Amino acid sequence: MIRIFDTTLRDGEQSPGCSMHLNEKIQMAKQLERMGVDIIEAGFAIASKGDFESISEVAKAVKDSTVASLARCLPKDIDAAYEAVRHAESPMLHVFLATSPIHMKYKLEMKEDEVYERAVESVRYARKFCSNIEFSCEDASRSELPFLYRIIEGVIDAGATTVNIPDTVGYTTPQEFEAFIRAIRENTPNIDKAVISVHCHNDLGMGVANSLSAVLAGAGQIECTVNGIGERAGNAALEEVVMALQTRKDFYQKETRIRSTEIMRSSHLLSSITGVRVQPHKAIVGINAFAHESGIHQHGMLKEKSTYEIMTPESVGLQKNMMVLGKHSGKHALRDRLADLGYEIDNAELEALFVKFKALADEKKTVYDKDIEALLIGQYSQVEDGYELVDYQTATSEGKDAKTIIQVSYQDERIERVGTGKGPIDAAFDAMAQITGEDVRLQDFSIHAVTQGKDAIGETLVKIEKDGRMYSGKGMSTDIIKSSILAYMNAINHMESRRKRGLNGNTV
Ligand SMILES: [Zn+2]
Repeated sequence: MIRIFDTTLRDGEQSPGCSMHLNEKIQMAKQLERMGVDIIEAGFAIASKGDFESISEVAKAVKDSTVASLARCLPKDIDAAYEAVRHAESPMLHVFLATSPIHMKYKLEMKEDEVYERAVESVRYARKFCSNIEFSCEDASRSELPFLYRIIEGVIDAGATTVNIPDTVGYTTPQEFEAFIRAIRENTPNIDKAVISVHCHNDLGMGVANSLSAVLAGAGQIECTVNGIGERAGNAALEEVVMALQTRKDFYQKETRIRSTEIMRSSHLLSSITGVRVQPHKAIVGINAFAHESGIHQHGMLKEKSTYEIMTPESVGLQKNMMVLGKHSGKHALRDRLADLGYEIDNAELEALFVKFKALADEKKTVYDKDIEALLIGQYSQVEDGYELVDYQTATSEGKDAKTIIQVSYQDERIERVGTGKGPIDAAFDAMAQITGEDVRLQDFSIHAVTQGKDAIGETLVKIEKDGRMYSGKGMSTDIIKSSILAYMNAINHMESRRKRGLNGNTV
């Protein structure tokens, strides 16, 4: 059995434009739990108050998965990490220290012996709080093997139950990494007392391949993220790792506990939360991953699916849109449908959602599952104490600048401004810039239809940049001007809440 350690909420969240706030993290964590992830790394507790709080809330909300927090080899980091995960059914502390010559010399300014001592002491310290300890040798793939044998033996003796061998900089290759892991297994005397884990980055596009090679050499845990998000080129993608092991079980001879039918929903939920979509041809979860365009392929598929299909769309939970609810559907029907889709919501959430559902059912003839999911995810992405749209008006005519008037409420205040621009959306963004007084740069703007038909919900995704940091926002409405205003406002709200909780940044 290969353990799946998901770091979407920690390493994944470190990627530009992927930051999530509390409710979004809880919702994502519950979905990871539903998918059957063994371990959820919920964050880096010492990084900021916001990180601490979200790990703590995830630890309380999740029952079936272990919840981990990252910590450097410092008592204050380990204290914070334990404090954050202590309410979990199954807590885990993940302690890391760099072991490569280049990191030890320039980053840590420590000699091998000092690194060894610090690692062993920290694991021993962490072990006082918690019996489940992972130790990561940061930049392991560029570390010297004899030193790795020594430090791994030391941390296992000190109580580490998992040792993680990350390819922090995405440098290794499958053949090399397989031999590397095999050497560690063969030369570390007490290695059988711990699980070997790998954590591969995708800088050369080999994150998944390297992780799977490590399995051949005896690794028992793979660290990965949904959609492969993460620092720089990202981490090994969970869905690719899981489906490779499942589809090629004949070759790998290993299983995971992942319910693969939850893969699409996890991918979709993450994209909706972060506003970062996967490319159409992305393996497993891209929109084209199961599409067969060529006539020859289609002909083959009609006769016998397995001619061109190595796994079924159903196995990853891909479903067609189903028309389910309409104008006359009641609260019970909405709650039942949400339960079928896998969402549990409390009464207050149901009340708020039902108002939005009714408004949508008035605008749209048919309400699809995806529409309901879009409403629910939109609800989770709202930021407390942020800007809220009260009203807007827009006027355009040929040859003249467009004008958009926006009224918002902000912390018990009403603010109204008139913006001008090349079109109504440009003018709306001008009005929002005046309202917020924030000088931001618009980096990306896109509108997609959530479902089919001319009355489909338009989902607008906006990315703004300020002082070198990216913030994303999304808005949903059947009116694209409104969804654009909502998306811009949501990005500004994300920026403000990110400022309030402070910035993080340290990696394995
Ligand atoms: Zn990483």
